[in-house]
This record gives sequence, C-alpha cells and structure tokens, in this order.
Amino acid sequence: MKQPYLLLTPGPLSTTATVKAAMQIDYCTWDQDYREITEKVRAQLLTVAHANPETYTSVLLQGSGSYGVEATIGTAIPRQGALLMIAINGAYGQRISEIAAYYQIPHIDVCFDEDQAVDPNKIAQALAEHPEVTHFAMIHSETTTGILNPIEEIMPLLKARHIVSIIDAMSSFGGVPLNIDELDCDYLISSSNKCIQGVPGFAFIIAKQQALAKTAGNARSLCLDLYEQWQTMTKFPGKWRFTSPTHVVHAFAQALTELTAEGGVTKRYQRYCENQQRLSAGMQRLGFTLIIQPAIQGPIITSFNYPTPAFDFHHFYQFLKTRGFVIYPGKVTTTPSFRIGSIGDVQPQDIDRLLTVIADYQQHNQSH
Ligand SMILES: *Cc1c(COP(=O)(O)O)cnc(C)c1O
Repeated sequence: MKQPYLLLTPGPLSTTATVKAAMQIDYCTWDQDYREITEKVRAQLLTVAHANPETYTSVLLQGSGSYGVEATIGTAIPRQGALLMIAINGAYGQRISEIAAYYQIPHIDVCFDEDQAVDPNKIAQALAEHPEVTHFAMIHSETTTGILNPIEEIMPLLKARHIVSIIDAMSSFGGVPLNIDELDCDYLISSSNKCIQGVPGFAFIIAKQQALAKTAGNARSLCLDLYEQWQTMTKFPGKWRFTSPTHVVHAFAQALTELTAEGGVTKRYQRYCENQQRLSAGMQRLGFTLIIQPAIQGPIITSFNYPTPAFDFHHFYQFLKTRGFVIYPGKVTTTPSFRIGSIGDVQPQDIDRLLTVIADYQQHNQSH
C-alpha cells in the first residue's frame, strides 16, 4: 500500500518501507530469537547514547513516551522525604508537573516563557533557594516549540548538589548527539517513534544502574514499576514483564540498523539540521515569521506564527494533506501558531517540495 502523505510531525513520524516491512512476522514473546532481539536493542541503545554498559542500563517499557516519563518519576522518587524540581518551558515540562501532582510528589516548578530556553542561571538561583531538592527533571528538546534546552549547562549544578537528574530527551535522542557518559545524568527517557524512526509502542529509559538499584519498592504503579521491569529484563535476559509489542520491537531493531547505515546520530543530526534550515529559510522567504529565535531553535520541529489573524489553519492543513504533507497544529498557549517537523524519513528535497506546495497555496488563497 502506498503511503498517501509524508508526516512532518514529531512522532509518530514517517518511517521507511523496510521498517514497516519488519512488522510482517508474528513472533511470540518467550521465544529465544525474540529475547535476543530485545537484548540486542537494549545494548544498541547504550551504544547510541555513548553510555558505558558497566554503569548504565537500558530498560524498555510498553506504552508511549509519557508512560516512560511517568514510570521514571514514579519509580526514581521515593514515597517519603523527596522534593522534585521541574524546569518548565512548554507542555512536556508541564506534563511532568501533572505526573508529580498525580503521585502527590512535592514539587517546585521553575517556569519560563514558552519562547525562551530554560536559563541555567535561574536554575542555579532556584536550587540555592531550595537546598532540600533531591530530584530534578527537565526536557531536552521541548517539542511544544522546538527549543533545545541547555541540559549540558544544568547537569553540573545538579551533580554539585548530588541531585538525581531525570531528562526527557524524547524528541532528541537519536537525532541530536548526546553523550551520556559525559552528561553523567541518572535517567534519560525516549521512545520508539521519535528520532530512532521506529513506530509507536514502547518507551525506553537509560538509567544509571547505581541510581535504579536504590529504587526497589518506590513505585506506586505495578505496570509502571521501572525497577521491576529492569529486574525481569536482567534476570531473564530479554524478557519483558508483560506482553510486549513484538512487531514494534522488530521494526525498532530494523530502525536501529538503518540509523547505523545512515552514519549514526551525527549524520542523522546533519540531515535534520539541513531539513530544519531549509524549512525555516524557505518559510521566511514566503513571509512566515518564526516564534523561536534561531539561537535556541533545535532541528526537530519549527513553530510559525499565523500569517494573519484570519488565517484558516484547518483549510491550510487540508490543502497540504491532499498534496502529500501532514503538518502539526501549534502548542504555544499565548500565540496562534502551527508547527512543521523535520524528523523521520524526510529528506531536504521533501522540504523543497513542501515549500513549493505552500507557495502554491498562497497563490490560490491571496486572502489568507
Ligand atoms: C513525544 C514527547 C513525549 C511523549 O509523548 P507521548 O504522546 O506519550 O508519546 C514526551 N516528551 C516530549 C518532549 C515529547 O516530544
């Protein structure tokens, strides 16, 4: 079946035909072949992350990315005596605050405007004001806008205070170079359907073994108990606690092979940057304006202001969709906007084609 349009969204995203084809076989979960694939995926994730397998482990967890974030928050943070600080500059930081509220975890939200990156100086100040903070959570690529937050500058502040660090790198892992050994974070979370370019179905957590080993009994949820998931996967190599998304795991294994074939994260990052730069420059030539300053813009997704107050996003969206491109509504709460992603099996020529279609739209809809 021919794919009717290219997804220019930040996950699910466009995958290759070979990734989709890897899902054509029905595997059972207890079979040795399948368990070996799970183990290989776990090891490859550590390689992609530049994480030493002696100090780090990777745990796969059924569900979307948010399940991975919730499992990490609900397992890493003890039931008593902990205080979580969260850096928030968009909807995904806000979601961590919501998770903390559900779990009745005491938390301090350090909020920034949605069009600003998290400011390490403000974080340093907040930490100084709250020496009782034990855990800290932040977003790397804030997909709400496309901002890349300076996690490398914040990590040393946390290390100096022995604060457990939790990074949501959902939309950047595999697409933006990250070196976990250097970063020295405790937990980093991503999922199958983002920059590794697999299909939706599971989250994965790269965790420092020493940190995770201390979390037995912390979880308030059976299914989202990251510690138990890790124990099962380790004691019975490659075994997931409950039914795993077998087809998705095969697609993911293929996607990892294709990441290597592309030249690894560095090469993929270059392609995403090229996509994003062409998009940004081309859209500005067509008269659209950016929400995020180029200095803090990441290569994953770009937010644009509505060109006029009367702009009909739905009409624009449908026009693009019938011509082969699906874009994304905006998520900035203060300004009407829309977003276009640059990740997935998307090439710079695809962006050029998109720009031609958008120019065509403007021709046909002078009033918009
Ligand atoms: C995609 C994403 C998530 C997870 O969203 P799900 O809909 O649960 O997959 C979390 N954080 C960020 C930054 C994301 O981009």
